[in-house]
Amino acid sequence: MSYNGVWTMAETNDGKLRTVAFELLTRGRKLADKLDVDLSSFIIGNNVSKEEANKLIEAGADKVYLMNDPRLEDFIVENYSNVMVSLVEEYKPEIILGAATTQGRTVLPHVAIRVNAGLTADCTELDIEEESGNLLQTRPAIGGNILATIHTPKHRPQMATVRPKSTSPAERVSGREGEIIELDFDPELLDGRAKRVDFRTTEGEDVNIVDADTIVAGGKGLKKSDNFEMIWKMADILGGAVGASRDAVEMDWISYPHQVGLSGKTVTPHLYIAIGISGAIQHLAGMKTADHIIAINEDPDADIFKVSDIGIVGNLFDLVPMINERLQEE
Ligand code: FAD
Repeated sequence: MSYNGVWTMAETNDGKLRTVAFELLTRGRKLADKLDVDLSSFIIGNNVSKEEANKLIEAGADKVYLMNDPRLEDFIVENYSNVMVSLVEEYKPEIILGAATTQGRTVLPHVAIRVNAGLTADCTELDIEEESGNLLQTRPAIGGNILATIHTPKHRPQMATVRPKSTSPAERVSGREGEIIELDFDPELLDGRAKRVDFRTTEGEDVNIVDADTIVAGGKGLKKSDNFEMIWKMADILGGAVGASRDAVEMDWISYPHQVGLSGKTVTPHLYIAIGISGAIQHLAGMKTADHIIAINEDPDADIFKVSDIGIVGNLFDLVPMINERLQEE
């Protein structure tokens, strides 16, 4: 049997599909249509209902492979990798996409090395080369200064992780038909060497800038930690989250989970307000797809203004308290 079909890994949390599973279907559908093959998703977990799996069908998957087992409740990379390798050997998908999340970034490379495939991490664009039918995988490289397109002409499956929020989730069409294939878990696939002994949330794990509709972000222009107060205040008034540039994080003015950019989070809020941020390419990589961008900077030539819908040139120490006061009056 030759390699055929596009597969996406659908991550779940407490039995519910994560949004990124639907983003991968947007990517997968485009590739499957170009290759004229089926698009399938697979779920490895516990207590994921068929109704939940059917949401993937509604969002464009032709087939969903669903493997539930209490022993798969915790994400243990060796177990998930064993399951995925067995699926690859049995079904031979031509392309496998996962999300560039903690899970995807951990398990896909583990699988890739075992099935002798290449893997391109953190892709922001995927396409099919017309003549060859090979996957073209585009990702930022050299500190985000270029976008490199990577070809993997010889190996199958072709594997990639895709940056979350780099595309919209596929829309669900109620009544769309497809097949859900329930798979039994083979206990032989349990690795047994690793198990979860405890689960602790670290500081900042409740910082969810990725799903925030409004983000107010501060940079080095704030000069010191205490001045971040005005950023928190604006975010509070607007009901948004607080983001930051890497320089602000490196100065210890705010913790890493707030960092936006190439080595931080990618966000696509409805409104992104950048305050005292220059707009380095690595910062833009994480926020330029926001629906609306407002920037405040004293330098009229700052790069952040190139991506802004509204640019306010001025001293943030005058402007931000004034804006906060006006917003509070509203
Ligand atoms: P600066 O570039 O110093 O900008 C400060 C801005 O504040 C200036 O534009 C200045 O005009 C303005 N300002 C100063 N005073 C005032 C005032 N009183 N009123 C108004 N404006 C004022 N950066 C990220 O942000 N996220 C990343 O994920 C990231 N990843 C990286 C990965 C790599 C591999 C590398 C090499 C770099 C990365 N960087 C990242 C760093 C990036 O290159 C920049 O150094 C960083 O974004 C700059 O942060 P900043 O805009 O806060 O500081």
